[in-house]
Amino acid sequence: MADQPPFPTTWTHTHDPFRSFYGERIAEEELAAAMADTADTPKTILIVAGHPDDGDAGCGGSAAKWAAQGHRVILCVATNGNKGSGDPTMDSARLEAIRDREQRAAAKVMGIREVVILPNKDGELADTYEFRGQLVRLIRRYRPDRIVTHNPYRWQHRDHRITGQGVLDAVWPYCRDRLHYPELAQEGLTPHKVPEVYLFAGFDGADADVEEDITDFWETKLNALACHVSQFGPPEEMRQRWLARRQERQGEENGRMLERFKRVEYPV
Ligand SMILES: [Zn+2]
Repeated sequence: MADQPPFPTTWTHTHDPFRSFYGERIAEEELAAAMADTADTPKTILIVAGHPDDGDAGCGGSAAKWAAQGHRVILCVATNGNKGSGDPTMDSARLEAIRDREQRAAAKVMGIREVVILPNKDGELADTYEFRGQLVRLIRRYRPDRIVTHNPYRWQHRDHRITGQGVLDAVWPYCRDRLHYPELAQEGLTPHKVPEVYLFAGFDGADADVEEDITDFWETKLNALACHVSQFGPPEEMRQRWLARRQERQGEENGRMLERFKRVEYPV
């Protein structure tokens, strides 16, 4: 078992990047059981986003729903977002402080009480031993049942790709095997096996095999996004833009609002 790679549970695309490497499927019933989310079985769910606002946009409705269901939800942001501004009077130090404030306010709106912003600069994230170590440390500390992050195989901001790839690599094998980052043992952080990772499927939902109905948390998601004034402008204008484009923005189906994910399951 130790050397067996993780395998995803369902396939939607023949060109799926995991497909050529991993082989097995699990039974549909097993999948349904694994996906049952009730307050009777509280989970620890760790969201890892590239920049402040990405977690809110990618899974803000689901995060609010999971928190309301009694799950422990932690938001980690991999960079401080200190480059995301077109304002000619803005500088990186001020922007970092603003985005920190905005993200913490948005987390509060979603019912997330724990926010970790890693000390990496916007646009400078790299697939390094150090970055993977930051993620391993985080995972060994919080010991999540599920991680939610970017899909590194979609075209998008470099920091998003690096974040998603870093998380997948940190989950398996770095976090699992004690001889990786052995110095973490001095902090009492021992190996942890993460059972599943949800990857943001994007607004088109092209790679999705999991849907969360966020209809009841759609307003909460908008309110969280509205906290990011430095990115989206005045809250009311942002709300109008999202409402006007809500179908393409949120995968609306028959009046229900959805957030979609690609699920990767790991043996534990
Ligand atoms: Zn981003």
